[in-house]
Amino acid sequence: MASVPSPARLRPVDSQSGEIVDLYEYQARDLFEKHGVPVLRGIVAETPEQASEAAAKLGTPVVAVKAQVKVGGRGKAGGVKIAKSPQEAAEHAKAILGMDIKGHTVHKVMIAEGADIAEEYYFSILLDRGERRYLAMCSREGGMDIETLAKERPEALAKVAVDPIDGIDDAKAREILTQAGFPAGEQDAIVPVVIKLWETYRDEDATLVEVNPMVKTGDGRILAIDGKMTVDNNAAFRQPDHAALVDRATTDPLELRAGELGLNYVKLDGSVGVIGNGAGLVMSTLDCVAYAGEEFPGSPAPANFLDIGGGASAEIMANGLDLIMSDEQVRSVFVNVFGGITACDQVALGIKGALEKLGDKASKPLVVRLDGNAVAEGRKILEEFNHPLVTMVPTMDEAASKAAELASKEA
Ligand code: GDP
Ligand code: MN
Repeated sequence: MASVPSPARLRPVDSQSGEIVDLYEYQARDLFEKHGVPVLRGIVAETPEQASEAAAKLGTPVVAVKAQVKVGGRGKAGGVKIAKSPQEAAEHAKAILGMDIKGHTVHKVMIAEGADIAEEYYFSILLDRGERRYLAMCSREGGMDIETLAKERPEALAKVAVDPIDGIDDAKAREILTQAGFPAGEQDAIVPVVIKLWETYRDEDATLVEVNPMVKTGDGRILAIDGKMTVDNNAAFRQPDHAALVDRATTDPLELRAGELGLNYVKLDGSVGVIGNGAGLVMSTLDCVAYAGEEFPGSPAPANFLDIGGGASAEIMANGLDLIMSDEQVRSVFVNVFGGITACDQVALGIKGALEKLGDKASKPLVVRLDGNAVAEGRKILEEFNHPLVTMVPTMDEAASKAAELASKEA
């Protein structure tokens, strides 16, 4: 029997579009500032010259030169360096720009005002899907990687459920800080920062706000020194500013095009293109393909998620097919449609239209499974079209297997 496919193979290539958008530290810093969270000034630089100018502009005796990559542990990897002059900032920037940190190339650094750090804490708020709540986590032992802290000293990490309606008020903030071991006298300075971080989380429709470290300075101020945020793309309709946070340079070009076409598409890492109607059906199609793929050499896996939605027209189908065919990783395409509101004859016309439009450029075999509303008409259209690349298969399991087999052969 085939083993159950690893969920890692079904994960998006990059969390840029689709459900969530991960932000760079400098973007999180800007949003913190917007909501009144105390941060230090920071200027983004893409060259050593810009780094030097930024350090001069900040004018503080010490600046931090920080790699902007969407991965933690930059400090340990040499991606965070302290500079005592604009010239030194330029030298550090020269070393850090272009650096590879855990597979992420550094294209930008942030030159940040230096902080006089007396103590480092940890604070985060995240979405706890399983509990249908938010979860606040806090520790007096910040700075270090949180996974390590949670494993080695779980008692030092407070975890407090947050009701999404009630949020974090003064009393809740104190509950979190008390559980993290802050004596009452130390809480007064931190409470307003925790509340502002909650407001950032709520008002930006975030699924993660993490500050590591949150620091106490020598003169007793509380500052967010390093921020990590993830925002929920499902809230894009009421967060017009968030579109500008998507990093077009590193976003998959197919995802960008899908966005322009209004298609609900997520790039995955396999070779079987998938199109279906309805998110649930497409999700189970991905599972079916990954499972069927285990039976074939090279274990072909899904190349993407694409939901053409209910009531999809021939044009949407054609756009989707065109997009998937232009993915170089794709070796075969599985069109899985259960006609409810979507009529199978429209889907068939879309497939026909897309193949006619693509002409000789269409070189990838298509496995089509149609069922439900207007299935007879749909199948008839494709039978009469009789295109050499199209195979119709009656059930989802057989079709998934056929598509995986074709991808395996074409590889
Ligand atoms: P990370 O390693 O990716 O989490 O990057 P951080 O921004 O958290 O930086 C790592 C460590 O560098 C922090 O825990 C601090 O100890 C230190 N650090 C960062 N910025 C400054 C700064 O402005 N001044 C000083 N003295 N230390 C800093
Ligand atoms: Mn950090």
